[in-house]
Amino acid sequence: MTQITIEDRFRGSILGLAIGDALGHPTEFVSSLSAIRARWGEAGVTDFQPSGRHPAGTFTDDTQMALAVARALIRSGHRDLDTLMTVLGQEFVAWYRHPDNNRAPGGTCMSGCRNLAGGRPWRAAGVKGSKGCGAAMRAAPIGLYFQDDTAAMIRVAAAQSVLTHGHPTAVASSVAAAAPVAWAARGNGLSGMLDFTRECVSQLTANVLREAGCAEELAHQPGAEEMLAALDSTRVMLGREAENVCDLLGEGWIGEEAVATALWCLHRAQGGFRESVLRGANSSGDSDSIACIAGSIAGAMGGVGAIPPDWAREVEKATLLDRLARELQQAALERQQMRPDEERPLDPELDFFNCAAPRGNSASTSREPL
Ligand SMILES: [Mg+2]
Repeated sequence: MTQITIEDRFRGSILGLAIGDALGHPTEFVSSLSAIRARWGEAGVTDFQPSGRHPAGTFTDDTQMALAVARALIRSGHRDLDTLMTVLGQEFVAWYRHPDNNRAPGGTCMSGCRNLAGGRPWRAAGVKGSKGCGAAMRAAPIGLYFQDDTAAMIRVAAAQSVLTHGHPTAVASSVAAAAPVAWAARGNGLSGMLDFTRECVSQLTANVLREAGCAEELAHQPGAEEMLAALDSTRVMLGREAENVCDLLGEGWIGEEAVATALWCLHRAQGGFRESVLRGANSSGDSDSIACIAGSIAGAMGGVGAIPPDWAREVEKATLLDRLARELQQAALERQQMRPDEERPLDPELDFFNCAAPRGNSASTSREPL
């Protein structure tokens, strides 16, 4: 067996999340497994399919926001939390304004971005009551970048949630989505993954939540118990089978259900990439987010070599995603050596949403080719 390098794991995770998301794109709003089968045959979706006017292989807001997170980490992951989150806010606002943001983005993410665009500081931008899965679906790059620094991974995963989602369970779901990616990126398998994820979520004390910007009354709510309960349910449900994975752990529209269901898909598939993402994609609930989270973990575990090559080639922006993954790995490697007062430059070709463009550009001037 050939050794899976850390670079292979970064590439597998970034491509993997985009592929899972693209596979689940056409089924996201198809609300039952029988309706999925009626449309795509008995096996459901088994390959990229067009979704509305988007060609096969097009990923959605889940991947787009994860790319924004990856870019912010490359630019400023070595800097202090405030600077990193401010940069992330710029990336989110660029995405929010970009014409490619036309793939049914979640309302909470859009509200948070609108607040950021209006000048609200990152700690105050999120929707206080929302625990939608928008914070979890984009957390994988944080697990990759901080795979060797669990405390930093928890802090940053918690903080990135607050830009759009202020609810402590959303914050916890972001940590729970990043943790298994970090676990897998270190070369670990399924054994111990749920324990490690649980351990990371348990470290969300009131102080960590407060630092991450949760409102005071929410920070007092101890340790994101809903996320821990969902992880415990995952473990119980691993002994059960269901054709529609959403029958077991929920529809996945909220953070704790999306992560729990993705972890279930991954474990039941014994970490296999293809089966993990297809189980998520062929589900009644938030198919693209479940498959996106499952793909990010399976890709980190098996590396890019575990991904069917035609998917890795045909997913939207495949070459650029692969380059971004390599840049992210390089940035993570050099994190300790970089000067905290300097931003790391990033290839302009990887500026997917024209973040570097002068502020106030109208959307029509910022379109970029696929
Ligand atoms: Mg989506």
